[in-house]
Amino acid sequence: MEHEQAFELLPGYIDEELSLSESREFERHLAGCELCTHAYEQQRQVSARLRQADMRMDAPPELVKCIRAALPVRRSLWERLSERFGGTGGFSVVGAGNVGTRSLGWAPLGAMVVSLVALTWSAGLYLSTPSGDTRLTEELVDSHVRSLQFDHLYDVISTDRHTVKPWFDGKIDFAPPVVDLAAQGYPLVGGRLDYLDGRSVAVMVYRYKLHPINLYVWPGNDAGPTPHIYERQGYHLAHWSAGGMNYWAVTDAGESELDGFLTGLRTHSPS
Ligand SMILES: [Zn+2]
Repeated sequence: MEHEQAFELLPGYIDEELSLSESREFERHLAGCELCTHAYEQQRQVSARLRQADMRMDAPPELVKCIRAALPVRRSLWERLSERFGGTGGFSVVGAGNVGTRSLGWAPLGAMVVSLVALTWSAGLYLSTPSGDTRLTEELVDSHVRSLQFDHLYDVISTDRHTVKPWFDGKIDFAPPVVDLAAQGYPLVGGRLDYLDGRSVAVMVYRYKLHPINLYVWPGNDAGPTPHIYERQGYHLAHWSAGGMNYWAVTDAGESELDGFLTGLRTHSPS
């Protein structure tokens, strides 16, 4: 790994966003590079200080008014809030601008701030938790792109499945099926470990002409046996489960090329 690449990965490493293999490669570089170790220490300290600092502030009442005026759903939210808090009597609003922590009899400003906070909170929740599948496909595309960008397609380079399969022994707690599809036009070129959806996964790397195909495998039965092909950000993805394993294939090759790969793979895989 070069300095330039290490510098690019540094923020991701500090925020624990790198894949397992990227982290390991980054740490290897760090161990032998004073310059990057220094940069890492500096960024780590800045990041730690930012986390400690109290960066919260109350929205000024004028801003609260503007946002509330622009929201079309305040009535139903208000109803929901009333239901939740009983609707009548006093209500304590903490940190609501100059209202402070006084007990309010649903004073307009207090209610306004409560609604705003609740709405912001629920909108935040909605935005930060996309459905599991969307999040996973985004993670898969990111992982695929990273594997190409940082020249980190493989940890083991081999076209021989008898080399690739044992390479995973002891590195993960399952044995991914590895098949060779050279005769079908999709030669196996290597494998690597990756980190996806909170767990270590095996990745078999195939090629169709110049297009790499990353095949992610881990134990589970999340999908049916028939692959579904998706398109995300210009990449094609396929998802299915077979023989107690979840499979995701990601490639920049066309849909029919991916389909040919899937047919070959499923014909030659243990079921
Ligand atoms: Zn360096």
